[in-house]
Amino acid sequence: MMKNKPLLFLLSLLHLTFVVAQDEEVTISIDTLSKDVYMLTGQGGNIGIFVGKDNVFMIDDQFDRLSEKIKSAITTLTDKPIAILFNTHMHGDHTGGNSKFNSNVTTLVAHDNVRKSLREQQSGNTDFDENMLPEITFSDDITFHDGEETIMAFHVHNAHTDGDAMVFFLENNVLHMGDTYFAARYPFIDLKSGGSVEGYINAHKKALLLINEDTKIIPGHGRPSNKEELQNYVAMLEAIKSKVQNAIAANASLEDVIKDTSLTEVYDEIHGNGFIKPEALRETFYVSLKGN
Ligand SMILES: [Zn+2]
Repeated sequence: MMKNKPLLFLLSLLHLTFVVAQDEEVTISIDTLSKDVYMLTGQGGNIGIFVGKDNVFMIDDQFDRLSEKIKSAITTLTDKPIAILFNTHMHGDHTGGNSKFNSNVTTLVAHDNVRKSLREQQSGNTDFDENMLPEITFSDDITFHDGEETIMAFHVHNAHTDGDAMVFFLENNVLHMGDTYFAARYPFIDLKSGGSVEGYINAHKKALLLINEDTKIIPGHGRPSNKEELQNYVAMLEAIKSKVQNAIAANASLEDVIKDTSLTEVYDEIHGNGFIKPEALRETFYVSLKGN
């Protein structure tokens, strides 16, 4: 047993150095999108902050290790308490800080499946912290009221995951789309967690019905966006979808589609340099569309 100790010590030192290094290089920057709504960028999913009459409404919280930095960034905007913390979906780069924000003044809200998935992920983990679970969940939509502002959160089916919700600030005219939108990069569609190409495109169509030319969009990842960019993005996804469908109809195999650069090449230069590379996107489209 003793023999393992130096290695374990070294590993924990390495881990510590890694965490500290990662943390030190992250700074939280703030974009002002409207009178009361801000976007915070650090590492992980974009955070939305609405400063209301008496309270703050917060959307997503990145990683646990960034919580103190995120809290101090929020205090530069307001000293009002965070009454609601809303999770757009269950991925760890959007919910990692849940238990650090959950308190007797902050209530966690998310779609039913977010709570279910977070609980399942933690099954068997003896360190599991109940505080990271949403305390209020909904199946279709939920509306919040704060002074003049109406905040509409609504579920979109099988888009990025099986528990996505978008949040629309009606008066401020800002829409947070969570990971149903990766601005200027190919989307990650998490098929294993219930996402689908069809649902992803439908989510965009639903968003487009709601917004206008002046709406500011907070994407899950990427810079703030707008209706025109979202329209172009959906057109891109639909074009790729129809090309991959044609390939499937012509009996192309998964390997054929992964190799066929012509299916995405006109979009690769702008969209193919993010987390999802062109090959991975073609694979996702094939697997998702073949399943239909
Ligand atoms: Zn995600």
